[in-house]
Amino acid sequence: MNRKERRARKAVPRKYDVVQYANELLPRLDMRYVTRPFRILWVDDGLPAPLADRAAWLGNRSCFTAANLDWLVQPLLEERGQWAGPCDVFIMREPELFYHAIDFLNVVIHEAAHQFEFAADGCLRSTVDTPADPLALKRWGEQQAELEAAYVPGQVMPWTGHGKIFIRASLTLAWRARRFVGVPLSGLCCGRRYGITHARHYERALGTELMDRKDESLEAILRSPAPPEFVRLFASDRRAYATIQLQRLDEQLFYARRLVKKYPRSVQAMENVGRLECARAVHIARFDLDDVSILPRALGLVAWRPMQ
Ligand SMILES: [Zn+2]
Repeated sequence: MNRKERRARKAVPRKYDVVQYANELLPRLDMRYVTRPFRILWVDDGLPAPLADRAAWLGNRSCFTAANLDWLVQPLLEERGQWAGPCDVFIMREPELFYHAIDFLNVVIHEAAHQFEFAADGCLRSTVDTPADPLALKRWGEQQAELEAAYVPGQVMPWTGHGKIFIRASLTLAWRARRFVGVPLSGLCCGRRYGITHARHYERALGTELMDRKDESLEAILRSPAPPEFVRLFASDRRAYATIQLQRLDEQLFYARRLVKKYPRSVQAMENVGRLECARAVHIARFDLDDVSILPRALGLVAWRPMQ
């Protein structure tokens, strides 16, 4: 083995190492992980079907966490004699799939931020140890299947599950982590993948909060109002997304109406217009937009103006 090969082999993150890194890092970032344990499970860890399926569905970087995931894996861990009480559970891909251990830590921070978000939302069950409920996993699997069946592409906002609270939590954790390790912001949260502005703009919008409240618990920070600049940035991203979607609907509506003009007796064409008008009204109400015509400039029909 030559030097280059040796170095390449050394760089491949290993399970044992990365769990150690995570164990060392998370308690330094916030009190939560001083008092509450977390557990990393691997997708190839013999997980029960619904959890393994969910991990596979998410693709290559399939790492996920959920509120009360410990409840779902409790029977499995008890069976193996590994249950040590309530904890945050992160289900991760094999570390060999990550280019570098830092990418892995980046994902650990991302998943931990979700746990803070769940806590802020009050959707975590009691942290008191309770008997395992083997049916909980079955019910969760059924719920997931229902959600997937109801999924309609294009109707879910790209940042769904990664909104304001999550962004604030992940950026705060990443900022604190940077004292110990160079965690990159890209891929952590925000950005193109989530259909919103890059994380560095959000970090800047948090302003002095990161430094001023560095010793406070993240839970307390999330309970307090976010800095106005941060709130404004998210609102403007949301509005930009909503405006583009409205333009698309208007464009579809324009062509649908044209078809009605051409084939006035077509029930299908009329129904299509009705469906689009309804979708447009729902969209305007959902995003609290002003109902103005914003047909794309390219159509050259009416004066187009961007939403403020
Ligand atoms: Zn996530």
